[in-house]
Amino acid sequence: MRPSVPSLLLGACLLASTIAAPQVHAESNPPPTDPTTTTTVPLTVRDVKVWYRIPTRDKVVFITIDDGFTVTPELAKVLKRHKVPITTFAIAKPMERNKEWFLARDNMTFENHTVNHRSLTFLSVRAQQREICGANRRVARLTGTTPVLFRPPGGNFTAKTKRAMANCGLEHLVMWNVIAEGNVLRMPKGGLKRGDIILMHYLKSTASTLELLLRQIKKDGLRPALLRDYLS
Ligand SMILES: [Zn+2]
Repeated sequence: MRPSVPSLLLGACLLASTIAAPQVHAESNPPPTDPTTTTTVPLTVRDVKVWYRIPTRDKVVFITIDDGFTVTPELAKVLKRHKVPITTFAIAKPMERNKEWFLARDNMTFENHTVNHRSLTFLSVRAQQREICGANRRVARLTGTTPVLFRPPGGNFTAKTKRAMANCGLEHLVMWNVIAEGNVLRMPKGGLKRGDIILMHYLKSTASTLELLLRQIKKDGLRPALLRDYLS
């Protein structure tokens, strides 16, 4: 019997499936914006894009790992052995608590998952901004790099979230379409596809889940890549 995935994740995933992904193709994306322009022209809600998969011709998938307070030497070993690129959606506390572990990682970027991991659904724009802008500052202080991607806790967001993101200078809201947890991979029929975004959490079991996932990725003729290389 397959162990169940926490209902929150399933709920978030179901929510994700009800909202259409943007029809933007990576190959047709506009060229990178001049950084001097980004600092002078504020973002608006219309600039904020929501991603469930990344349209790409490359044979890549994107492994993302969110909150969860458990980082282990086993996970460090797996990451190192396979040189796995990981997008971490960080909340500050677990990162601050395990600073050395996180900062020792190669090929890992640290993105925004709010300060306190509160559900954003019923929060005002101002309250969401405190969570989002505050996380940008804390992650930047810890890692020296400001996040460029945002994932709302539980996958819950509203139009106010987009406004708060724009006010915090973030234009990419990253959801997921695959969940890897315990010894279960919840993915569309037929295996992984290029552009899939995989959700994991920092748990005691993450090292073994990651090995299982890496085998599946290889079996499907894909390789993991960093979201930052496709969304920036
Ligand atoms: Zn989370």
